[in-house]
Amino acid sequence: MKFATNFRPGVAPLPTDKATLEDVLSIRPWCDKLLSFRTTRSRSFRFQPGQFVRLGLAGATGDVVWRPYSMVSASYDEYLEFFSILVPDGAFSERLARLGVGEPIYVEKAPYGYLTTSRFVGGQDLWLLASGTGLAPFLSILRDPEVWGQYENIVLAYSARLAKELAYQEEIAALAGDALFAGEKARLHYVPIVTREAVPGWLGQRLNVLLGDGSLERRVGLPIDRERSRLLICGNPQMLDDVRAILQTRGLRPDRSREPGNFASENYW
Ligand SMILES: Cc1cc2nc3c(=O)[nH]c(=O)nc-3n(C[C@H](O)[C@H](O)[C@H](O)COP(=O)(O)OP(=O)(O)OC[C@H]3O[C@@H](n4cnc5c(N)ncnc54)[C@H](O)[C@@H]3O)c2cc1C
Repeated sequence: MKFATNFRPGVAPLPTDKATLEDVLSIRPWCDKLLSFRTTRSRSFRFQPGQFVRLGLAGATGDVVWRPYSMVSASYDEYLEFFSILVPDGAFSERLARLGVGEPIYVEKAPYGYLTTSRFVGGQDLWLLASGTGLAPFLSILRDPEVWGQYENIVLAYSARLAKELAYQEEIAALAGDALFAGEKARLHYVPIVTREAVPGWLGQRLNVLLGDGSLERRVGLPIDRERSRLLICGNPQMLDDVRAILQTRGLRPDRSREPGNFASENYW
């Protein structure tokens, strides 16, 4: 493993001691607007599955654009992995689209965020509801053996517009058979959802609709209720608003530090 410093020949040193300079190890395109990439990881960088970190990409004049990104990789992996959208004309996206293997990227030293299972008290079933790149933090959570020991059921409902935009299908399929979780009690239920094309056997409505009419629970065969369910929700802001509203009409409560509840969410923009 290669350990980074903030100084590299030919690369402008970062004008802050809050980040390390890492190298891009690999890039994996999923479709024209989605890709994943791995970077080196500083030995001192620690995070909880579900957290995010700010990444920085330098331009030709040395200016750095920073954006928050959830870690996809497990907390024990020697590298960091991220899953990203390429937004047309987006300041970070434009630089990311041109990034090559071996090129530098800044990673802030401190992770942030509370989209973690450690926040919840009790519960039998963990529901992970993702739209688009909102899948990212859940992949890290799904690689955490503690989570597999904490819950009886883990449900991943992952929604995209088109089937080709559903990333990490092989990795998700392999999770249930991973020897790392063999002795743990949880059973994984995966529900892929595609909203703009019909895929036989798959659900095809938006997450709030599937929750509102009960079809997500019927598909999984588990009820969502205050006693047994804990939910993490991640993705686009409209989906989050709609899903939170449905959960609240059903008597579930947001989880707060002084008032334990059922769900927590993270907006990507
Ligand atoms: C806590 C947090 C964690 C995040 N983690 C991730 C992550 O793991 N992967 C990721 O791709 N993005 C993530 N984002 C969004 C990311 O930080 C950038 O906004 C995104 O990469 C686009 O950057 P940009 O500069 O190109 O465009 P921006 O100027 O940042 O955004 C332009 C527009 O693009 C759209 N947009 C932004 N992000 C997304 C997205 N993820 N999916 C669809 N549309 C989007 C919005 O309409 C936004 O107004 C996260 C954001 C937050 C707040």
